[in-house]
Amino acid sequence: MHKKIASLLVTAALSAGLPQAAHAASNETITKRYFAALVGSEPRLAELTMFFTLMPKGGDLHHHYSGAIYAEQFLEWVDKQNYCVDSTALTIQAMPPAGACVSGASVMNNNALLAQVLQRWSDKDFYNHGALQSPPDRQFFDTFGYFGPVASTNTADGLQRLKQRAIQENVSYLETIFELAPMVLNADFDKQAASGVNDAMLTAFSEQLDKNQDFKKGIDAYLANVNTSGAGIDDDKFTLRYQSFVLRFLSPSQVFSTMLASFKLASMDSKIVGVNIVGQESVNVSMRDYAMHMQMFKYLKARYPKVKLALHAGELALGLVPPEGLSFHIRDAIDVAGAQRIGHGIDIAHETNPIGIMKKMREQNIAVEVNLSSNDFILGIKDQAHPVTLYRKYGVPFVISTDDAGVSRNNLSGEYVLFASRYKTNYAEVKKLSYDSLRYSFLAQDDKDRLIKALDGKFARFEADIAAGEARKGK
Ligand SMILES: [Zn+2]
Repeated sequence: MHKKIASLLVTAALSAGLPQAAHAASNETITKRYFAALVGSEPRLAELTMFFTLMPKGGDLHHHYSGAIYAEQFLEWVDKQNYCVDSTALTIQAMPPAGACVSGASVMNNNALLAQVLQRWSDKDFYNHGALQSPPDRQFFDTFGYFGPVASTNTADGLQRLKQRAIQENVSYLETIFELAPMVLNADFDKQAASGVNDAMLTAFSEQLDKNQDFKKGIDAYLANVNTSGAGIDDDKFTLRYQSFVLRFLSPSQVFSTMLASFKLASMDSKIVGVNIVGQESVNVSMRDYAMHMQMFKYLKARYPKVKLALHAGELALGLVPPEGLSFHIRDAIDVAGAQRIGHGIDIAHETNPIGIMKKMREQNIAVEVNLSSNDFILGIKDQAHPVTLYRKYGVPFVISTDDAGVSRNNLSGEYVLFASRYKTNYAEVKKLSYDSLRYSFLAQDDKDRLIKALDGKFARFEADIAAGEARKGK
């Protein structure tokens, strides 16, 4: 009886021509209530998965292009390139070696061999197979070596696949960490850099690089690759932007030359919206040179002040490196390098002045890119040990991202499910996280405004759908 009266009242209100906003607000209220029931005392994971697959998710701001491609795709490219897979070592070979080397298609058709390849080229089955395996951090980063030979081939195809996958799970924007910028090895510079760098050294090396024709050609080739691989990819459903990157475990001259190339690239083409530094942070060279890398960023940031930086920083855990190494990486990325976003930010609780750093991040709108699956696998940091709990408490902006969905064999919806099921969130927060993934993007302001406006419409439709589903349940 009650229900009938309520529905009559709703019908009457609608026919009386109540403003659209009042109707939309009621859909939002129903969605809030529905979501609260899903996270409840025991999260309803299947329903949360459906909810987040359907929920418009703005963008993915921590997204490695090659790490996002699934191994099955790489196997297809093995054949396209006329390469083969060594069926013992599971490596890709350009020329058939002495042993058995088989096509990607034969791997796909051989269940036992495919299982072995997936265990080496991704994290699949890490916790449920009995084979000898490396520690999880090595397993994760080693995958890049296995699929490396084809990772930079067929990029136009790869970007299209990622676009289709994004649209399928209601993601409208990817800011992908695309390719390594060109580099030049310089033994003299490396020798000098062993006792630190200064502005004069960096200026001299920059001038030398500016005269290097191969370096210039490398930059032109990078730009051409961005333009041909991503040609025509943007439309009303999807927008793609790129970050150029530096590998932190290379030698100082290689790091600085890729960094200079990246700053130049980001200044030359508006589709390259930022620069990043990536690679395992806990290995010796990355740790030894960390402070020097931040100084290099500072130098280039002063010369290219408009270039935006999203830096992987503090992807470390207690026990992985000596404790001193955990005390300053996020701080230096912000204070020295001038990062606008921080990737991972896991070591915050160990840094020298965590509350001061978080205050600064809050006040200066420096967002953390939170990658829950990746942090769990590589660092063993999850649940209440994950510092997203601290960032939430201290009001530091953050976004939910995937890191390497092809390696982790996850997607962005899955990361939202993890967040919601672990951290007792509410609908208002996850909706805000979706908007924040556009607000904290490096998109140009007009693109940002356009995508946020489109997101308003998508959320209105999503909430209407949820409300309609709930109304059907009530009958
Ligand atoms: Zn990453």
